[in-house]
Amino acid sequence: MGRILVNKPCGHLIGRDFVPAQADATLPVIDPSTGETFAMIARGGRAEIDAAVAAARAALEGGWGKLTATERGRLMIRLAALVRDHAEELTALEVRDVGKPVRQARADAFACARYFEFYGEAADKVHGETIPYQDGYTVMTVREPHGVTGHIVPWNYPMQIIGRSVAGALAMGNACVVKPAEDASLTALKVAELAVEAGFPAGAINVVTGTGEEAGAVLAAHPGIDHISFTGSNQVGKLVQTAGAQNTIPVTLELGGKSPQLVFADADLDQALPFLVNAVIQNAGQTCSAGSRIVVEEAIYEEVVNRLSEAFGTLKVGPAADDPDVGPLVNAKQHAMVKGFLEQARADGLQIVAEAALPDGLPEGGYYIAPTVVGDVPAEHELAQKEIFGPVLSVIRARDEAHALEIANGTAYGLVAGVWTRDGGRAMRLARKIRVGQVFINNYGAGGGIELPFGGVKASGHGREKGFEALYGFSVTKTIAYRHG
Ligand code: NAD
Repeated sequence: MGRILVNKPCGHLIGRDFVPAQADATLPVIDPSTGETFAMIARGGRAEIDAAVAAARAALEGGWGKLTATERGRLMIRLAALVRDHAEELTALEVRDVGKPVRQARADAFACARYFEFYGEAADKVHGETIPYQDGYTVMTVREPHGVTGHIVPWNYPMQIIGRSVAGALAMGNACVVKPAEDASLTALKVAELAVEAGFPAGAINVVTGTGEEAGAVLAAHPGIDHISFTGSNQVGKLVQTAGAQNTIPVTLELGGKSPQLVFADADLDQALPFLVNAVIQNAGQTCSAGSRIVVEEAIYEEVVNRLSEAFGTLKVGPAADDPDVGPLVNAKQHAMVKGFLEQARADGLQIVAEAALPDGLPEGGYYIAPTVVGDVPAEHELAQKEIFGPVLSVIRARDEAHALEIANGTAYGLVAGVWTRDGGRAMRLARKIRVGQVFINNYGAGGGIELPFGGVKASGHGREKGFEALYGFSVTKTIAYRHG
């Protein structure tokens, strides 16, 4: 294990240095597989955020700001290689810190590396334009960094989201201040440490750990930042946007979802089934784009439910280090919340059609939930409306295409949707009419898709990350009109 996993408080990374926690300002790091505390992180606040913002500002005016786009890209590609070299160490940290099964944690480490590689390679490929204008003028646009960018990150895909958000910002020449989630800070610190090793100039990447209220809110409201990228809940996203508005800065909100998968009678069910199951059990359902609602055409409803039940019956639940299909939820709060949804569903008389067995001998303090399929969920029931963030699948009947579309669009969210059909016309009609940021036809998730612009509409947020499009969000256009006669 790397030096951040020592059994004493670690620090923040500000400039190029680890800054130790102030006396007593620490938070426990709990292993969700056992409920045991195995490390401590620093609990930063205003002083650390101030220092990190100042370090980022200094970086823009110093070593980092002086690099060419190509040089920035090279550093990012070097960081990508270091992340790959340390993939096993990062995996081990994530398994313990957030209870993510080994293969899924490893995939996150490689995705993180890929973000730095993709955006490193893109750094010198975002060009401005020249605009035909009046005689005697040459008009051009250049893309410039915002300046200091704040990145508030959730606990569910820490490495992926740090890669996604920070790499895009760095590619465009911004200097970053990252506030990871209090339940998932270890890999953020490790990636920042690797950035130092890669040779990033002081202050290009800073990480301040701590709570949302004490560190996140201070960062969001800080007058020294020029852009904020927030990934997390809708509720906190609104607070962050409000804080950003006080400083008139752009805010990207990557929020939650209640993503539907529409399955029609002409779909290839053999192909669909593994996607339908995986989309909701991956990371124990704690995924913004979890396919948590399946909307099934009446004619194949029984068949789909039976096949889902069969598949859920074989799922293995266990401690993350054993690499099960489904690990624990991240913390006690999340566990109580998901249990509450299931108890309410039972009290409301909803039909539990499948529940994976929890094996004997699970560590008592772990936050385990049996993956569950609930059938015939009324489209207006909270199970079909709210983001559960657990391995709970709601199956909803649809009479026909129009009804399926109405259900798909019938929640506050709009992040991702899947459509399963052999009818190309229907697939495209629905792809255009479902109000979300990404639609997958006869697949779901497209293997992560770092190259594919991602983000929500409605309560799922606004702004796009991933793909080239993120680079426009992490920069501003300046128009230069040169009158030369
Ligand atoms: P959260 O909103 O509770 O916390 C996210 C981050 O915000 C954490 O770092 C937290 O410390 C910080 N925070 C909390 N209160 C804050 C405040 N008042 N001001 C500033 N920052 C504050 O979310 P979570 O529980 O960590 O993550 C789960 C949520 O994230 C789900 O809704 C999920 O769908 C969403 N999510 C969205 C995406 C996406 O790309 N759209 C990706 C992953 C997760």
